[in-house]
Amino acid sequence: MAVQGAFLEHQVALSRAAKEIPQCPALKIREVRCAEDMTADMKGLIIPGGESTTISLFLRRNNMEEPLKAWIGQQDHVTWGTCAGMILLSKHTEHQKQGGQSSLGVTDTLVSRNYFGRQVNSFEADLPVTACSLLDDPASHQEYFRAVFIRAPATLHVTAPSVEVLAALRLAPEQHPVIVAFRQGNVLSTAFHPELTDDLRWHRYFLKMALCRV
Ligand code: GLN
Repeated sequence: MAVQGAFLEHQVALSRAAKEIPQCPALKIREVRCAEDMTADMKGLIIPGGESTTISLFLRRNNMEEPLKAWIGQQDHVTWGTCAGMILLSKHTEHQKQGGQSSLGVTDTLVSRNYFGRQVNSFEADLPVTACSLLDDPASHQEYFRAVFIRAPATLHVTAPSVEVLAALRLAPEQHPVIVAFRQGNVLSTAFHPELTDDLRWHRYFLKMALCRV
């Protein structure tokens, strides 16, 4: 989705990741800015990090919310929300009643915007990645993923058993761990920005989801 935020970085990372998957058919990347761009033959959609209020307003003004939800709901379509994308995809947002932005209401989760603080509190952290399919990636046997958090959200609760937690983070021993990556069916959400690193594991994982191999 090329409305606002880090969509160009995702394009570069996806193109590089596709070259590393031998069975990956020639990848065609399309920038989505209106409902007509979301054709049925498109297999995957990334809602990038950026500013969820801005993206949400754009979607509403351009009557894209309903077509988007319908597109995401199709069985053979995969969607990945990074950061602002995680917020937009979540069914529940903290402070929603106090003027929080609307969401697409797809994942059974409660997300807290700016959970880790403001822009100055942006940070990097080594995430132990528990998802077997990520660790099994033959291109990398690292147990950690260096994740970049920029004014990042966190998922505080899941409200359906189909939400599979892929990575959680606890910044201090006295804190509860919060969810920073999960998958629910065909939807992947990460609170951090893999497109800003050279580690392509998440992009490979998403491409494999689209190819129905994970
Ligand atoms: N906290 C931002 C928001 O509410 C998201 C930040 C990001 O995507 N890097 O939209």
